[in-house]
Amino acid sequence: SAYRDEIKNAIRTVPDWPEPGVMFRDIMPLLQNRNAFRKLIDSFVHRYQNMQLDAIAAIDARGFILGAPLAYELGLSLVPVRKKGKLPFKTVTQSYDLEYGSATIELHTDAFKPGDRVLVMDDLIATGGTMLAACELVRKLQAEVVEVAAIIDLPDLKGGEKLRNAGFPVYAICEFD
Ligand code: 5GP
Repeated sequence: SAYRDEIKNAIRTVPDWPEPGVMFRDIMPLLQNRNAFRKLIDSFVHRYQNMQLDAIAAIDARGFILGAPLAYELGLSLVPVRKKGKLPFKTVTQSYDLEYGSATIELHTDAFKPGDRVLVMDDLIATGGTMLAACELVRKLQAEVVEVAAIIDLPDLKGGEKLRNAGFPVYAICEFD
């Protein structure tokens, strides 16, 4: 569709970053493009306005940029999912594998109430490891992941498939091969 094409066309591909062989999908030009950015947020507003959500779990750091305007517009709680060591209060943590090594993300223990309906947001789904770890954290607090949302899915890496197989519905605005 036209809005999807406009959003996709505003994403820049940077070859060989952060290492040789990687095609990095850079959303900075999309954020700079006021028309495309408005269409992006409006498309998420349209999708989620009638889903009876309570909160958005926005993943450190590009997920924050999407989650904040969406939470504001829909009148929802904004819950940043942070990299380990950034949150001052009691936390729950979840580690996950990266290509080299591992990473850990955290939530405050009072981030959600049991039964809260939560949307998990990030800019991009690659292997799905980051999103899956965030979903596990939401579950640890007995809240419900209604959907995971991203601007971009990379279907070749099968992250969307992994998330769906784990029981988490996935929504992405565009795909890159
Ligand atoms: P995954 O855990 O799904 O393998 O990787 C997704 C995470 O890595 C997301 O937090 C995303 O921001 C980041 N990421 C990986 N590759 C890219 C990319 O090409 N572009 C952008 N913008 N983020 C990426």
